[in-house]
Amino acid sequence: MSALSELYGEITRCQKCDIAKYRTRVVPGEGAEDADIMFIGEAPGWHEDQQGRPFVGPAGQFLNELLSLINLKREQVYIANVIKCRPQGNRDPLPQEILNCRGWLEQQIELIRPRMIVTLGRYSMALFFPGKSISKIHGTAEKRDGIIYYAMYHPAAALHQQSLRETIKADMLKIPELLAREKSMPEVEEEPGVKQLNMFEV
Ligand code: URA
Repeated sequence: MSALSELYGEITRCQKCDIAKYRTRVVPGEGAEDADIMFIGEAPGWHEDQQGRPFVGPAGQFLNELLSLINLKREQVYIANVIKCRPQGNRDPLPQEILNCRGWLEQQIELIRPRMIVTLGRYSMALFFPGKSISKIHGTAEKRDGIIYYAMYHPAAALHQQSLRETIKADMLKIPELLAREKSMPEVEEEPGVKQLNMFEV
């Protein structure tokens, strides 16, 4: 059994949050264990809770479409969420839930060691680009400790706001070039107490 499958077992038994009582299935994440790109969304919705798989509802259909724009299939990337259980009624995740789940996500990143982490939406962005605003940093990347962090709007945003559809597609289309330019991308060093301003625009 792979270390990732063992981790799924642990995540599936997690009872740290109250929402564990209401879940149908835990949604740990899925995809290639050696993926170059890891997409991180917010939290499972109704469809994901039913199936135990991330991004399988309408937002997932759009994510599949976005992946096909850069000639990728879901199985070639890794897809996870900030939190692994569905918040009741699709409410926003609570800070404590994000904190409780953070260790699982960190272990997933450690095991997969992606070259690029793509944050989908505000909650995921907040973990990796604290204090930033999605409307300002979507479509921009930063390299830290050898990983490219890239912020995108959540695919569901396009379902509610049609005008974002083309923006999200355009941001997705920048990914192959970012990976190709990975080696020449400068590392951003986070100085204690200084906000990261050195965004790598594409
Ligand atoms: N939205 C998310 O953020 N994650 C999913 O898995 C599905 C919808």
